[in-house]
Amino acid sequence: MRYAIISDIHANLTALEAVLADIGDQVDRIWCLGDLIGYGPDPNECIERIRREEIVSVVGNHDKACLGGMDLIEFNPDARRSCRWTIEQLKPENRAYLEGLAEKVVGDGFTLVHGSPRLPVWEYITQPETARENFAAFDTRICLVGHTHVPLAFFLADNAPPTCERRWLSGVGPIDLNTGRWILNPGGLGQPRDGDPTSPYLVIDLDTMMAEVHRVPYAIEQTQRRMEQAGLPGNLILRLSYGW
Ligand code: ZN
Repeated sequence: MRYAIISDIHANLTALEAVLADIGDQVDRIWCLGDLIGYGPDPNECIERIRREEIVSVVGNHDKACLGGMDLIEFNPDARRSCRWTIEQLKPENRAYLEGLAEKVVGDGFTLVHGSPRLPVWEYITQPETARENFAAFDTRICLVGHTHVPLAFFLADNAPPTCERRWLSGVGPIDLNTGRWILNPGGLGQPRDGDPTSPYLVIDLDTMMAEVHRVPYAIEQTQRRMEQAGLPGNLILRLSYGW
């Protein structure tokens, strides 16, 4: 069995389609770690594609914010503007779909959340100390998180002092998950922030317990053109070119 893990699509349909084409039929299941929308120009199209593919997803902070009725004080001005635009675009059936998404899904030995197991929607795990505290907040051996848009692994060794190690996941080839406990982040499909503008996703082989991040180039300028047409903030358009 092989699973593909995607996260932070952020209404970037061109990137989503490129990744789904790259995944093809090489996996048995696709999981999504939230933030289907926000920032990008294609909120309805991305939700509809995820629904059509019957991809299981948890809810992200942007998904929640774009349902409206929330104080957007946590968001910077660009995020707030794109969120307000997205709220106006969302079709009722897609809004209902987002409202139905769970904050946490546990299955097949994995815990799925957008942010962190202890604060599923909002907490960012970037530091080993934060990760270490979060290992106490889930029962499975492996937890899958998104939210930071950076492909990262946090590793807690068996029978070792409770120290936590951080490893970069992109460009390092397959990593071995057979020992210890893990928090894995596939990176941000629709808005990468690790300096590489190509779209990342993670494949986990459940038979060998090996995991590897794949990168997919997509037609960035097509997404940028639709963002311009929609009047979305210039910084959000520009950052896609650089992956930050
Ligand atoms: Zn995000």
